[in-house]
Amino acid sequence: MGTSGAVGPDRPGPGERRVADPAGYRDATRVIHAGAPAPTPGAPFRAGPVLAAPYHLAAEGPTGADAYGRADNPTVRALEQAIGTLEGGEVVAFASGMAAITGLLFATLGAGDTLVLPSDGYFKVREFADTVLAGRGVAVHQVPTPGPYRLAGHAPRLVLLETPANPGLAVCDIAAVAAMSRDAGALLAVDNTTATPLGQRPLELGADVVVASGTKALTGHSDLLLGYVATADPGLADRLRGWRAMTGAICGPFEAWLAHRSLATLELRLGRQEANAAAVVEFLSGRPEVTGLRWPGLDPMARRQLARMPGLVTFELPDEAAATAFLRATKLVANATSFGGLHSSADRRAQFGDPVPAGLIRLSVGCEDPADLIEDLRAGLAAG
Ligand SMILES: *Cc1c(COP(=O)(O)O)cnc(C)c1O
Repeated sequence: MGTSGAVGPDRPGPGERRVADPAGYRDATRVIHAGAPAPTPGAPFRAGPVLAAPYHLAAEGPTGADAYGRADNPTVRALEQAIGTLEGGEVVAFASGMAAITGLLFATLGAGDTLVLPSDGYFKVREFADTVLAGRGVAVHQVPTPGPYRLAGHAPRLVLLETPANPGLAVCDIAAVAAMSRDAGALLAVDNTTATPLGQRPLELGADVVVASGTKALTGHSDLLLGYVATADPGLADRLRGWRAMTGAICGPFEAWLAHRSLATLELRLGRQEANAAAVVEFLSGRPEVTGLRWPGLDPMARRQLARMPGLVTFELPDEAAATAFLRATKLVANATSFGGLHSSADRRAQFGDPVPAGLIRLSVGCEDPADLIEDLRAGLAAG
């Protein structure tokens, strides 16, 4: 099913070679230089987005150069190159995290196969598995993120982990599940959305595939949808590119361009979010109405596995009314259902069908001044 020969050049294409392989540098340097073109006198630091549906063809027809935008685009390839240097694999970019995850599930699973999924992970993935995949003869087993994983009994084709899981923030040992998956003959995929590749690199820990939403902390400006799959298996990357070309699940070039621009500040944003989250957690832990406070920075397993703690915090208020009053009263913390952005935001997860208590708040700590944020949270709690 590989179509890359027919629809586009190898990655990166001729004339798109990136100079510095940022692999030898530290994170803050890598995110700034990842996927940047060779310096050319008179040229900008980064070209603008290439907006194209069809591309001009040679008289004899397709030659391996770009022919049609549903298959590939140079701006998308530059972004894939950049994310690929961070994850340590070949990247295929998609229009959203769900486009990437469903693309992986369709490309790897068929009737009679078994899929192992987190019972506490992103709810739309479970909904997709229980409706679309189960209807096509795929057996679906849900396992809580901390385990136990009894893979030998299920003989799964694919194990999907999400660690830290959204929204409960449970974590598991990726290297340990990778070893179990190998023994069971299963592929291991890890959803790296909450950690980002600066938090953890699952491919180095033994996973076969990374899937992620780039909508969240990776790009962090709450202005675009993006997803990607990263893998060290060129055959799988080819199948996914073929799937993407057939289904039209490629991200738009302008989104790819914005995402690449935003990626440059990833280390700065994550550093500020982690410091702010630590301050917010300290404040919330002293409040009597707050229970069930969770942040990966409080979890020893997460501390061992993650190089950086995400800005995601969950806690419980006594009931739905208190949670709703909190969300109504905060002025800086926007009531919005996403996370990882510059702007702090929060939502009541039970509203979206997550199997969690009615008063559970997921708080995404942004990059504002921490004293302003804490004043805002204080006002929110006072309203409840
Ligand atoms: C948001 C999210 C997704 C889905 O990503 P979209 O870009 O919204 O399609 C998948 N997994 C996790 C962990 C998420 O948080």
